[in-house]
Amino acid sequence: MNEIVCASGVELLMDYLDGVLPPEVSAALDAHVAGCPRCAAFVESYRATPRILRDATAVALPADLEEKLKAFLRERTNAFRSR
Ligand SMILES: [Zn+2]
Repeated sequence: MNEIVCASGVELLMDYLDGVLPPEVSAALDAHVAGCPRCAAFVESYRATPRILRDATAVALPADLEEKLKAFLRERTNAFRSR
């Protein structure tokens, strides 16, 4: 088993995070990442990315809901102005 080094790590880390590596390579990367802040940070940010994208998608309103919300806000704004 070759020792994992950062220089060869990034491409391996992608495969590692995709879960496509053989178990023994994956285990070696586990051990490396645990002792390497640089790789740990990379893994952390890579894992966070899809979650961030999901959050952004979840925040986007369906078109009809957005229209209703705008109509509601217009009504409220008009009511406020006519006071
Ligand atoms: Zn490393």
